[in-house]
Amino acid sequence: MLQTPPKNVAIIGAGLAGMCLAIELHKRSIQSTIYELRNPTRLTAGALMLSPNAIRIMEDIGLYRRVKDQGYLFESIAFKDADEKTTGVYYLGHEKLYGYQCLRLHRQVLLDELKDILQETNIPIVYGKKFSSIISETSESVTFSFEDGTTATADMLTGADGIHSTVRRYIAPGTTANFSGLLALTCALQKKDVRFPSIEGEDEYHLPVAINGKPGQFVMAPQSTDGEELLAGTQIPYPEQDRAGWARLAADKDELLRLMRKDYERWPETVKSALDSVPKESMFDWPFYTMPKLRSWVSAEGRVVILGDAAHAVPPAAGQGASQAFEDAHTLAMLLERVLEKAGLQDALRFWNDKRQKRIDEVVKLTLKINNMRLPQEQREKLAEEDISLSDEGGQLAWLYGVDIGREFSDWVEERTAN
Ligand SMILES: Cc1cc2nc3c(=O)[nH]c(=O)nc-3n(C[C@H](O)[C@H](O)[C@H](O)COP(=O)(O)OP(=O)(O)OC[C@H]3O[C@@H](n4cnc5c(N)ncnc54)[C@H](O)[C@@H]3O)c2cc1C
Repeated sequence: MLQTPPKNVAIIGAGLAGMCLAIELHKRSIQSTIYELRNPTRLTAGALMLSPNAIRIMEDIGLYRRVKDQGYLFESIAFKDADEKTTGVYYLGHEKLYGYQCLRLHRQVLLDELKDILQETNIPIVYGKKFSSIISETSESVTFSFEDGTTATADMLTGADGIHSTVRRYIAPGTTANFSGLLALTCALQKKDVRFPSIEGEDEYHLPVAINGKPGQFVMAPQSTDGEELLAGTQIPYPEQDRAGWARLAADKDELLRLMRKDYERWPETVKSALDSVPKESMFDWPFYTMPKLRSWVSAEGRVVILGDAAHAVPPAAGQGASQAFEDAHTLAMLLERVLEKAGLQDALRFWNDKRQKRIDEVVKLTLKINNMRLPQEQREKLAEEDISLSDEGGQLAWLYGVDIGREFSDWVEERTAN
């Protein structure tokens, strides 16, 4: 049984969870190697929202200072009805309440800066290496293979290989991600091209905004540093496709734009003006897949662990996928550093898995509520008020945004290791 920190950790996937974990382990003098199936020059589209719980961790690994001037900082999103009446203001970040504002930035910026940190700290990433399967796991080590026929051995293997994880097949055989039936359609447009109404009592139109219209909810959120480029998007019901079908749809910008405009006449004027100014090439789609709750994220011997989307693809509505991936990586590294005689690996991982799952459960509850708010009007009207209303006055979301997530893990280790 492992009672000292692992000496080398194999990380499958150079996404947000994998790279963050490698940096967190390096900080604690634990070596790791990342194996990534893609090549290093591949670019990723789209932008992400990072809330204070993620930013606290990004600060800790030296990432926040690198990216904060490359994105858009904000505190709240306004919810409006079809008549442009503000029905609520929801705080996604707040310096005073939660320690940080919220940051929206291009995913590629985040990935590039993470890669730079890895390079500066000499953490190896092996590109073009597709993990295939676990060959054997003992109480001492794990041996695994790649699709090119090569094998490797490490003290531990962590699967940060995303929602369609291959590592997960070893821990939870037969578990697959399920299509939610919803497809998000987004684009990047210029703020100057949207006709925002002037609203009495408001100096400036509140952005980000979520406008509830008859077809559902339409969101606009600044994502460039100067706030001039906006993400704009909505979600629609859509039939499941196979891999080739999704790829075809993603490449067909005309069809994506047609789908986004299909309820044009039923949207309020502000949304119509946004739909009029969509640069077609910026159209992007995101089929929402969810994952059933897993019994465990950890193998029987504790040498194989999954994290990030591989373990718990949370519904996207609260923008917590990346933030929870950062939390997983941060807390796992903390525990691995402190795997001491009195708190062996199995025990530590059981505690980690349990705590993380409980937090994910709460995030899922929150995102389902936000999702309800995005439904078409007829469906929203059938739901109870508490299932669609969200209030954040007084910082009720401090449990999500305001906590130092590492604290309870370090408290546990202190307790376990105290005489
Ligand atoms: C369009 C879109 C918008 C989003 N917006 C937000 C947002 O605003 N806020 C937010 O918090 N979250 C958002 N998310 C969710 C967020 O992106 C994910 O939750 C997050 O990226 C999960 O990180 P991860 O590292 O677990 O997985 P991923 O980022 O998916 O990384 C997995 C990595 O593993 C690699 N890989 C996969 N299989 C293998 C294999 N067999 N061998 C080797 N490598 C492998 C992949 O190539 C990839 O690099 C969004 C997601 C999408 C798609």
